[in-house]
Amino acid sequence: MKILVINAGSSSLKYQLIEMENEAAIAKGIVERIGQKCSTLMHKGSKNVTFDDLVIPTHTEAVKTVLDALLSSEYGVIKSVSEISAVGHRVVHGGEDFSESVLLTEEAMVKIAGNTDLAPLHQPANIIGIRACQAVMPNVPHAGIFDTTFHATIPDYAYMYAVAYDDYKSYRLRRYGFHGTSHMFIAGECKKLLGGDKNLVICHLGNGASISAVKGGKCIDTSMGLTPLEGLMMGTRSGDIDTAAVDYLCDKTGLSVKGVIDYLNKKCGLLGVSGVSSDFRDLRKAIGEGNTRADLALWMFCYRIKKYIGSFAAALGGVDCIVFTGGIGENAALVRQRVMTGLEYLGVTFKNEVNDNPSGGIYKLSSGKTDVYIIPTNEELVIARETARLAF
Ligand code: ADP
Repeated sequence: MKILVINAGSSSLKYQLIEMENEAAIAKGIVERIGQKCSTLMHKGSKNVTFDDLVIPTHTEAVKTVLDALLSSEYGVIKSVSEISAVGHRVVHGGEDFSESVLLTEEAMVKIAGNTDLAPLHQPANIIGIRACQAVMPNVPHAGIFDTTFHATIPDYAYMYAVAYDDYKSYRLRRYGFHGTSHMFIAGECKKLLGGDKNLVICHLGNGASISAVKGGKCIDTSMGLTPLEGLMMGTRSGDIDTAAVDYLCDKTGLSVKGVIDYLNKKCGLLGVSGVSSDFRDLRKAIGEGNTRADLALWMFCYRIKKYIGSFAAALGGVDCIVFTGGIGENAALVRQRVMTGLEYLGVTFKNEVNDNPSGGIYKLSSGKTDVYIIPTNEELVIARETARLAF
């Protein structure tokens, strides 16, 4: 059985075709700059097929382009569209309506649209992507897998902001959390690896970064909030900051509130502090060349992760396993080392020599009571698994 996984952005469409028998991605790619001159990358095994300068006017045409490519003799992944058994869609926000993935009925689509104000930049694009796929593939089940639902088990005292209760009720103003598919995948891998549900702290560190506390297989807290701006310092996001700084910055810069929030999302974090880049590889190089601001940015990034690990260990009543995942978590030995140094009090014996040379894949970095692992994430596979579970 083959499942097509779709992640639609406002001008892009990422896809992966997954063979569920061995859970392998048999093709993946991205259509970018929909509506302008597109750049389309198809990837099958080690073979890249790129289409530059195509003008693809709509997401529906983008879906057709992807299917044509999958069917083409050059790419040759499927012989007929009927080989695609179901489509799984990444949806950013489930709000309080969805505590699980769902089949995308018209009723579900109405509820998804009802959460647009919680993710005004991403939810409309997700809806457009779903509609496009439903139009082109009307006869297969479509499922919605949300970034938020893994966090639906967080108790009220952890997801509430200390605002007037009526405002929480009227405006759904609360913490939701994101990166749920990644945290869910890692929790599942840990259960297999550790032989049961343990107390986990999962550090998903990519361009966006979040950390979650998982107990008994259920998420009990996470660092992102109403939006992905809260929590850890990230590539371009500030993470936690005194809310009153927004007003202060409006006064100082003349920016509107929206302008300051945009600044906090796009110009801060590793990029803003270092003045070099939001990308860890660039920072690593700059640190090697003696750039002290790049070094400061990375120390700040690591310090905040360490603080969250400590607070989540307290929330969990002790931690059995700390996991690093995401592009930085999986690849940045310097980050893991800076984060783990000084966490011996949690029962961690961190092996620096192993950390410096992991061999890829799942890798244990510790001895002692508390485990530390690198576990590569696979968000598309979670979406495909959830889709298969719901559709068949
Ligand atoms: P996204 O949140 O966009 O999915 P990723 O999970 O791909 O982000 O993570 C991107 C980050 O991971 C970047 O900061 C990048 O520098 C870092 N990264 C990716 N691959 C490597 C690598 N091989 N070595 C060091 N850092 C890496």
